[in-house]
Amino acid sequence: MNGKASVSKELNQKHTKILEGLLKLPENRECADCHSKAPRWASVNLGIFICLQCSGVHRSLGVHISKVRSTALDTWLPDQVAFMQAMGNEKANNYWEAELPQDDDRRDIQSFIRAKYERRRWASKSKKQPDPSDFQSSDTCHNIMEGPVKIPIPRKARKYSMEEEAIIEYTSQSAHTKHHGASLSMDLKENFFIPPPAENVPKNDTTPKKIDANTDLFSLLYVSDHDRTVVPPSRWATFD
Ligand code: ZN
Repeated sequence: MNGKASVSKELNQKHTKILEGLLKLPENRECADCHSKAPRWASVNLGIFICLQCSGVHRSLGVHISKVRSTALDTWLPDQVAFMQAMGNEKANNYWEAELPQDDDRRDIQSFIRAKYERRRWASKSKKQPDPSDFQSSDTCHNIMEGPVKIPIPRKARKYSMEEEAIIEYTSQSAHTKHHGASLSMDLKENFFIPPPAENVPKNDTTPKKIDANTDLFSLLYVSDHDRTVVPPSRWATFD
């Protein structure tokens, strides 16, 4: 089972922030085993933060005892982060070092770690070993089951200009109505308002407008799809 594939970049960033916050807690500012400052590694099944040197010893124990992860470089699962939040160095050591004498000797850190976790030499006799499966992330399902990210469908690239598309749309509509016996030219004659000749423009119109071919075509295209009434350009309103 590889749950890592389900951890999105955003979720991973969220986990990194949570882990950074946990590392600032007083109990986690020292390695759980050798007490050196600023640990940056963790054992995800033991729920402890450890230094680089101790992480090497933990790796040598095998993953059945300790699973080592970098707090900054590795991908974390929601449940692993939740367990680190629930445990941390203080709670973990309350269990693993419950029987540890005051004058403990950690000069040989490898022997100390092996005794601590492998032989469970100082582990609590009365408490149960904290189990990661008892601590599940509340948002695990939400984040993992979000499903594929919805990618917005890109807008269709225009093969034609808006005017060209309008013409194509109109002619295709005309083609559909051809069974009524109407050709495109018939449609144009029947349905379009043809502007009167230029000489009919009133004399007081001091700015006689040349009918621009493009404007004319554009205006002709403003035909309602349903009743095909002509919407004349505003300048034609002066003819009323
Ligand atoms: Zn250490």
